[in-house]
Amino acid sequence: MIPEALAAGLLFTAASDAASDEQRLVLGRSHEGRAIIAHRLGDFDSPRKVLAVGCIHGNECQGARITRRLARGVPPSGLDLWVVHQLNPDGRRLGVRQNARGVDLNRNFGSQWIPIGSRWDPTYSGPRPWSERETRLARELVFRVRPDVTIWYHQPQAVVRAWGGSRRIARRYARRAGEPYRSLPWPNGTAPNWQNHRFRRATSFVVELPAGRLSDARAARHARAVRRLLTR
Ligand SMILES: [Zn+2]
Repeated sequence: MIPEALAAGLLFTAASDAASDEQRLVLGRSHEGRAIIAHRLGDFDSPRKVLAVGCIHGNECQGARITRRLARGVPPSGLDLWVVHQLNPDGRRLGVRQNARGVDLNRNFGSQWIPIGSRWDPTYSGPRPWSERETRLARELVFRVRPDVTIWYHQPQAVVRAWGGSRRIARRYARRAGEPYRSLPWPNGTAPNWQNHRFRRATSFVVELPAGRLSDARAARHARAVRRLLTR
């Protein structure tokens, strides 16, 4: 059996609260044992699926302000929205970009993966693709959800960046969020690189937020851009 098929949909324990239109899925645990959780919001029957990941680099976590705002707000209609506030809780705790093993999770995905650097280098890609638990949990979630659009929040470059077939919707997101847009090729082993190659019709792109604390007004603009992403 191929690992991808094995990964799809087996490891999820769901806690559902019908009254709140929200599901929480514990995807698994980080290297140091912290829970990594996905929240499902909105219209579960909608075929339009969006995933937003608030933080993958542990010292670039202001995107979680956007995903938390989405989770607090009125569930979006016509959208099956999934959010992960924190994919890298160990890095967050340590105040570093990498996970607790010194690996840059966003160079560890299995598409155009190459060896880069060594432990604790800023873009150390790990001993092999998918070597990190957090990266594998992200893979399982993507196989489970099959998002039409995935947004990965980073800092501090203040630009929406996309490549390939993801450029159109990323450009729309940038316009609605009021941020600059640039077409830039995917680096090796990144999450959008993998998703764009593995799921040819899906969109996956990066939103680089500015440095420092994201203002409430800016977070609100981004949350609105997510909710309206698949509307014209
Ligand atoms: Zn980053």
